[in-house]
Amino acid sequence: MENRLSKSDVPILIKNVSFIVTPKAMIEDCDIYIEGVEIKSISHNIEPSLPSRVIDGRGKIVIPGLVNTHHHLYQTLTRNIPLIQNKGLFEWLNVLYNIWQGLNPEAIYTSALVGFAELLLTGCTTTSDHLYVFPPGISDDFIDEEVRAAAKMGIRFHPLRGSMSRGRSEGGLPPDNLVESEDSIIKESERIISKFHNPNRLSMCRVGLAPCSPFSVTERLLKDTLLLARDKGVRCHTHLAETIDEENYCKKIYGMRPVEYMEKLGWLGEDISFAHCVWLNDEEIKLLSETETGVVHCPTSNLRLGSGIASIDEMLKAEVRIGLGVDGSASNDSSDMLGELRQASLLHNNIPTKKIFEMATSAGAAILGRDDIGTIEPGKAADLVLIDLRKIGYAGAMRDPLSAIVLCGDSHIVDTTIVNGVVVVEDGKLVNIDEEKLFEEANRISRELLKKAKIGCLSD
Ligand SMILES: [Zn+2]
Repeated sequence: MENRLSKSDVPILIKNVSFIVTPKAMIEDCDIYIEGVEIKSISHNIEPSLPSRVIDGRGKIVIPGLVNTHHHLYQTLTRNIPLIQNKGLFEWLNVLYNIWQGLNPEAIYTSALVGFAELLLTGCTTTSDHLYVFPPGISDDFIDEEVRAAAKMGIRFHPLRGSMSRGRSEGGLPPDNLVESEDSIIKESERIISKFHNPNRLSMCRVGLAPCSPFSVTERLLKDTLLLARDKGVRCHTHLAETIDEENYCKKIYGMRPVEYMEKLGWLGEDISFAHCVWLNDEEIKLLSETETGVVHCPTSNLRLGSGIASIDEMLKAEVRIGLGVDGSASNDSSDMLGELRQASLLHNNIPTKKIFEMATSAGAAILGRDDIGTIEPGKAADLVLIDLRKIGYAGAMRDPLSAIVLCGDSHIVDTTIVNGVVVVEDGKLVNIDEEKLFEEANRISRELLKKAKIGCLSD
């Protein structure tokens, strides 16, 4: 996916913006000029050098596009399943593995469209995705399908080639028929990197590698994946220290705690991030800080599965690098990015909203190894989100407009989303897809998946 595929032909002038959130300050009553894929200037009364599309910024706040650093897009088709509504991670996974065996390329493509749609509508312009389920014989093009969906929707995308190689007969959690051979995982990872990874500045697609978790892959795969990633210059990610069950599993199988295990395998560093990190002790927090290892906080998922509450305040004090993730829709039931900021703010009431906002913008970008997105500055990617503040839900909240869009309001659907200089959400509607048709298609495929797994729906 090259930049040229979504390059804007016409420059954009966002005129008379009421509030612009920049790294140093909130700028009032100002213009933003976008030329090509970059922010060109932020100033008063800009006279564009080229004929431009003008967007009215009056009454609106412009924020940098939000960055989502943990997701499982395929789960958008298997959310809100009553049977597992109140289960913990391991029980929840065991039911879902059975359903996910039925995934096919059509389901992957459609689920990705749904996830991207929700993200773009709620202010997210860059997302990673951790896809780790590859049913044998049908899954060769799964990542290809996701990349195709990202290009259609116009979102900046970091697909993570996930993996599971330790089945039940080897002491792992996933069923044996859902794990892959380690040789084919490495081969596929190499293929995906060479086909889709674009390391250039303002790239629309960067690949990473992401074995699923300590209880679903072997030590050898973790080591080989890291070797390959460092050889190819891509980043690594996995789930870690999510639940007490995982901690007990690691102690029983490996004789150590999850972070200790990763340290033993060399899995720490600036190019690595862990989703969750709920069950950390003080020494582990210090270790993540010293090694600059990233953490992705997923508050809704942690609450939904009863996994626990991550010590984000302690991690911030220790200067751990932290991003924010909606996590898969099977454990969030939503890909509402602005909603995730609200959730994080409510869960950690001692952390200022500005800090939470940083986690979902510049800090999240850094977790993905990027300094070209996440802030509004000339030369940065033209990834911008406009939110109309002239709504009843924001009335009386204008002393702090940034906190208002996180804490107040009655909807998280934004007014305009611009990615790479292209408008992809306009007047709160997706530009590149028919939302109603996508809704119907997603429901049809979701029903088929549940039927295959012999799980009934109310609509059957
Ligand atoms: Zn996850």
